[in-house]
Amino acid sequence: MSRDIHVVIEQLRGQVADISFVALAAARQLALGTEGDVVALLLGHEADHLAAGLAADRVWYVGDPGLAQFTPEPYVAVLTELYGENDRPRAVLFGDTSIGAEVAGGLSGRLDLPLVSRCRRVEASDGVVGFTSEICGGKILVEGELPEPTALVTMVPGGYRPEEGRSSEPPEVMQVPAPVLEPGRISLRSYHEPAPGDVDISSEPILIGVGRGIEREENLKLVEDLALAIGGAVCASRPVVDQGWLPTTRLVGKSGRRVKPKAYLALGISGAPEHVEGMTDSELVIAVNTDPMAPIFGVAQYGAETDVVDLLSLMLSRVGPGSGSSD
Ligand code: FAD
Repeated sequence: MSRDIHVVIEQLRGQVADISFVALAAARQLALGTEGDVVALLLGHEADHLAAGLAADRVWYVGDPGLAQFTPEPYVAVLTELYGENDRPRAVLFGDTSIGAEVAGGLSGRLDLPLVSRCRRVEASDGVVGFTSEICGGKILVEGELPEPTALVTMVPGGYRPEEGRSSEPPEVMQVPAPVLEPGRISLRSYHEPAPGDVDISSEPILIGVGRGIEREENLKLVEDLALAIGGAVCASRPVVDQGWLPTTRLVGKSGRRVKPKAYLALGISGAPEHVEGMTDSELVIAVNTDPMAPIFGVAQYGAETDVVDLLSLMLSRVGPGSGSSD
């Protein structure tokens, strides 16, 4: 049984996703225990330069025009071929994202390999390879052993810092030929960009994230006033966007944007993993929630257990329009 740990790198439009660096950091931890190597699998077209920042012992690069844009079928086809023929590693790590879940799920089905999803930590000691995974929307953490001989694993953010998966030393890159890729049933039609004139929340230094706890659409006015007063932009969790109170371009999380502000103020957001995935790289997180057990407090450096509408009114009386203060 191989002791190596593989990481399938997620890249879109010339950028490696942060979750892949998290997975590389996890892989390193695991490989220390299994005494194996970390191998990154990079798939794309004219994308081998992306290997440079990956903290892996080796990168296997599969380049093909059919891999230029991400669609699940060619990715699954390449990996099926790769693991069908060669020695399989102890574990293959993916990001627990839409992309990672589709590819890992497809590969698991094709090769009948066990898949452990939503893992926060992976560790190997005394020959036992263990994982800690989130269930029930992150409310419960379960521990277990990764099935032998090879397990597929999807990683959520929060267990490792992406910086630990980056390296300034370029790894060895091996070119791996792609199999013949048949045209798939799925094709990319377009990327959703922020509407012209709308804020690009992924580049804003201060974000005020608003969740279901804001209760009513009228209360958004308070959030917008606060954003104006402190020079931030407003973003949201899914229920707020689903109700049409803010456009999809303001959605933070798994199916929305990934943001990295200097400060993220989470107002009435519970901290579901799908939301946290999009904001976990914020430098500072401040959470406001009436529920002291809300998972968002687990990712926040500062928190207030209070009613968000009351707090907004109080803050605006100090810094808002007409407060007479510029503090
Ligand atoms: P809730 O979970 O309902 O939390 C509301 C919080 O507000 C609670 O913690 C409550 O205590 C608090 N609260 C209530 N009243 C007040 C008050 N007056 N003052 C202060 N606090 C108060 N979600 C995303 O956000 N982004 C995504 O990209 C995303 N993608 C998803 C993809 C998939 C495949 C799936 C299955 C789900 C996805 N979700 C996403 C949904 C996600 O699972 C959660 O349902 C969602 O994030 C919850 O949003 P919330 O925290 O606003 O609401």
